[in-house]
Amino acid sequence: MTQITMALTKGRILKETLPLLKQVNIEPLEDIFTSRKLVFSTTRDDLRLLVLRGSDVPTYVQFGAADIGIAGKDGLLEHQGDGYYEPVDLGIARCKLMTAVPKGAEPYRGRVRVATKYINVARKYYAQQGRQVDLIKLYGAMELAPVLDLAHEIVDIVDTGNTLKANGLEPREHIADISSRVIVNKAAMKTKYPVIKDILDALAEVVSAS
Ligand code: AMP
Repeated sequence: MTQITMALTKGRILKETLPLLKQVNIEPLEDIFTSRKLVFSTTRDDLRLLVLRGSDVPTYVQFGAADIGIAGKDGLLEHQGDGYYEPVDLGIARCKLMTAVPKGAEPYRGRVRVATKYINVARKYYAQQGRQVDLIKLYGAMELAPVLDLAHEIVDIVDTGNTLKANGLEPREHIADISSRVIVNKAAMKTKYPVIKDILDALAEVVSAS
């Protein structure tokens, strides 16, 4: 039997992924949210689930440690990885990648400092705009950086905009629309094609029906 390993992104994406998987008859045998395990058997003998940080999902899939992954487009853009296909947009965990500045801020005239965890995305975006900026890598709480003058603006994910607002910031430029995608290791797509194709077709059908 061909064994498939599927890497899921924990957190918000996981909450929206599990109902989709259930619709294609893939269910973990234990409660993923309460267990401390990282690998889960499922109702399919031939499929196990990994629960990872979003930024690690493309890495596992790129190197074939997982055959299939589900990850946010933001992490995929930042990862800039090779070695996987991105065949299905699940349309879940939708949000936007945007720049944000203190509310009402005039454009800063000096060299702008931008705080973000999306260093690669930001570098590319500002280069395309022809703007020279200094990028500051942060791992979380980007909204704090302009408040404490660590940065003039940030690049971050915006959903409702409430987090920005609560910190006196407002969204400015739209960089990309984000949703969660299915990615597949390129070699696995060939060697495990029939099983992977069935899973992709089933997921695509659920997405188009919803
Ligand atoms: P909001 O206040 O609704 O704009 O949400 C903002 C915060 O929630 C962001 O800073 C993100 O950390 C997180 N967030 C919102 N949507 C997503 C998503 N689809 N995937 C991952 N994180 C998200």
